[in-house]
Amino acid sequence: MTEPEISTLREQLLAHAARLRADVQTHREQLIEPAAATGNTFIAGAEGATADADDEREVALLRRSQLELDDVNAALQRLESGRFGECERCGEAIALARLQALPQARLCLACQSAAEHHPRNA
Ligand SMILES: [Zn+2]
Repeated sequence: MTEPEISTLREQLLAHAARLRADVQTHREQLIEPAAATGNTFIAGAEGATADADDEREVALLRRSQLELDDVNAALQRLESGRFGECERCGEAIALARLQALPQARLCLACQSAAEHHPRNA
């Protein structure tokens, strides 16, 4: 991997991390103040069913954003330590095309598809 390729990936990761942090922040705010966030005061006064469903959705989105942010931060750490682009499972280099599509990828394509087919062995 060349220096310009690495710095492009670093910029992608930093931009992605910033967007995910904003997402996490938004989902947190909506969980704290659901009525204020929706701008719909009658939801808060309803039997709670709507608000609960919304909360569950927000929790799921929050969790997903946080997991992705962890992946992005781990990728940035690997960039700093010079181990970026190594598969965490087999240690082989992850294809550049895959990293350009998904800079936070932890696994090479072969290990990723093995993990998806056998989640317990991941
Ligand atoms: Zn691998």
